[in-house]
Amino acid sequence: AEAIRIHDVVKQYENGTLALSGIHLSIREGEFVSLVGPSGCGKSTLLRIMAGLDQATSGQVQLQAGSAANKEQASFVFQEANLMPWRTVLANVALPLEINGVPSEERKARAMASLEKVGLAGYANSYPRQLSGGMKMRVSIARALVSEPKLLFMDEPFGALDEMTRHRLHEELLSIWSQSKLTIVFVTHSVFEAVYLSGRVVAMEAHPGRIKQVVPIEEAYP
Ligand code: ADP
Ligand code: ADP
Repeated sequence: AEAIRIHDVVKQYENGTLALSGIHLSIREGEFVSLVGPSGCGKSTLLRIMAGLDQATSGQVQLQAGSAANKEQASFVFQEANLMPWRTVLANVALPLEINGVPSEERKARAMASLEKVGLAGYANSYPRQLSGGMKMRVSIARALVSEPKLLFMDEPFGALDEMTRHRLHEELLSIWSQSKLTIVFVTHSVFEAVYLSGRVVAMEAHPGRIKQVVPIEEAYP
């Protein structure tokens, strides 16, 4: 089934910048798609519009209804882990559940299960400052997964990490994705990262931001 359908989306910012023009894209449930292209080509803008964090100037964005994706079932991961320094790792991961009024015991159990997925259950009672950059990003991913989303939007999540750490996180993310029915939309300026991670690469170009080519990786390299 289809998870996201984007029809003729245009985005013009208030200052006149035409960030996106004529975007058409359909993403299937369970797909891992990357948006790749040079800085300023509109990747973040398109991701934010897909996630409902920003509005298109014109065109339609449909997150499919029914048991499938909708806004309440989407999570976001940014380049900065954005953890709260005064909260433990467990309390950081549990935050989205707290906001949604999930009772304390259930919150703890689900946050712990989410930490286990990223291999950090042993750090539940640590504080963010005690963790490395890669570990903070794992916590950020655990926090995004704790609400059991159908859609995961990631904006250059590994851009600030060193190469070895990034490689380990690639493996972990692929493992999490392959064991779930998650649909992942992943923004990067690295063609290597896009091709390595995703089943389909959406290559964008700037001025105005638009889709240059959609390259199926799995079909090309079975
Ligand atoms: P990216 O890493 O996607 O290239 P940038 O570093 O260009 O992002 O932008 C960081 C933030 O600044 C984003 O929230 C973006 O919306 C905002 N931003 C980028 N360009 C402009 C601009 N020309 N005017 C106002 N805000 C901008
Ligand atoms: P990318 O993620 O590919 O680097 P962005 O989506 O951040 O690209 O930006 C696309 C274009 O829109 C750029 O020219 C950027 O400067 C501009 N832009 C981004 N955010 C804003 C904003 N809030 N206001 C004005 N211009 C913006």
